[in-house]
Amino acid sequence: VAKQLARPGVAARSDQDRIFTNLYGQHDFGLKGALKRGDWYKTKEIVLKGEDWIINEMKASGMRGRGGAGFPSGLKWSFMGKSSPGRPRYLVINADEGEPGTCKDREIMRHDPHKLIEGCLIAGRAMFANAAYIYIPWRQAIDEAYKAGLIGKNACGSGYDFDVYVHRGAGAYICGEETALIESLEGKQGKPRLKPPFPADTGLFGCPTTVTNVETVAAAPTILRRGGSWFAGFGAPRNSGTKLFAISGHVNKPCTVEEEMSIPLRELIERHCGGVRGGWDNLLAIIPGGSSVPLLPKHLCDTAVMDFDSLRDMQSGLGTAAVIVMDKSTDVVQAIARLSSFYRHESCGQCTPCREGSRWLDLMMSRFVSGQATSAEIDQILEITKEMEGHTICALADAAAWPVQGLMRHFRPEVEKRLKDYKIGSQVSSDANYR
Ligand code: SF4
Repeated sequence: VAKQLARPGVAARSDQDRIFTNLYGQHDFGLKGALKRGDWYKTKEIVLKGEDWIINEMKASGMRGRGGAGFPSGLKWSFMGKSSPGRPRYLVINADEGEPGTCKDREIMRHDPHKLIEGCLIAGRAMFANAAYIYIPWRQAIDEAYKAGLIGKNACGSGYDFDVYVHRGAGAYICGEETALIESLEGKQGKPRLKPPFPADTGLFGCPTTVTNVETVAAAPTILRRGGSWFAGFGAPRNSGTKLFAISGHVNKPCTVEEEMSIPLRELIERHCGGVRGGWDNLLAIIPGGSSVPLLPKHLCDTAVMDFDSLRDMQSGLGTAAVIVMDKSTDVVQAIARLSSFYRHESCGQCTPCREGSRWLDLMMSRFVSGQATSAEIDQILEITKEMEGHTICALADAAAWPVQGLMRHFRPEVEKRLKDYKIGSQVSSDANYR
């Protein structure tokens, strides 16, 4: 069933024009299958070309981190530099993927895991890392890669020693935040650290560390084999390459699919998901980048383009590119209230604006759902979101605030009508009681 759900409505891009050629698990995910698909090809040569070449090619590709923030990957990979000689250095792969709606990295890990392990070796070489820790990955492929001499001592015969370790988290959403993830790896409670110091200087076990997303690292070997300019040839300036989009909700065929960046949102859904349930006119709203970004109402979805900059200009975001589609049967107030409840549950509680704010958002959104809130509470809840946003250690408070802001920005008349209808209803009922 999972495979059927993951399979897109029509043929995806040709293998020539994509990176993840076993996204739907039709082929062997093991080493034999991976070798057939071109993984681990000339890896030794890439490793021997060294850090400057790898980082420059990643910069030329224009790749921006696929974990949600969209930070330029080549630049990020250069942060650890050659400083602190003698200290161990680590690459940490963030495979936590706890964001509601986001299910792209799991497809890489279960169907194309060797791309990730090969990417670890190459990214690790660029950063002079001694080892990679993958937070929740696929064990068998790592064993295979060790056995074949692709990682471990003298990885791929390159003279470079590189280990890959597995760490299973306990499922807390906040452990997707890079410093909380490092704390969790160290065996502590997963609570974000104050920055600075940044992980590139003081990360895992106090050593220089780069935390990066599964998709980013898994895409790197193909980019380096084909050249940064090949990857940069897809998409738009500053938003280049192909990307995994995970589309769920009220579409005919939910799927995870690799597409060119900057693809129009409507085209993405109609080409790969068989369209919105009941047709495009039945669309109410879409959250385009995982639950942390504001939703877009239908009239904006008509023209939205799936990249970092275009969606930011629409006061939303690409985030993890998890597209959550809501048709007109959706109670949008209830849907956003559900997210408020999620963020309240996942707040680690260190920062007062997040701990208290997420609690108040949850409580107040319940009042909007039932219709018991007053219209003055719309401004009050927006005021709370403003106090949360940008005032905390990590971005979870922003993630809690933005969906509520998006709801009130685009659906305020509907929310006001709901409150009015409730008042009229309760008036009738209390009048009836009086009589
Ligand atoms: Fe914890 Fe929230 Fe502060 Fe992040 S913003 S550190 S989740 S309390």
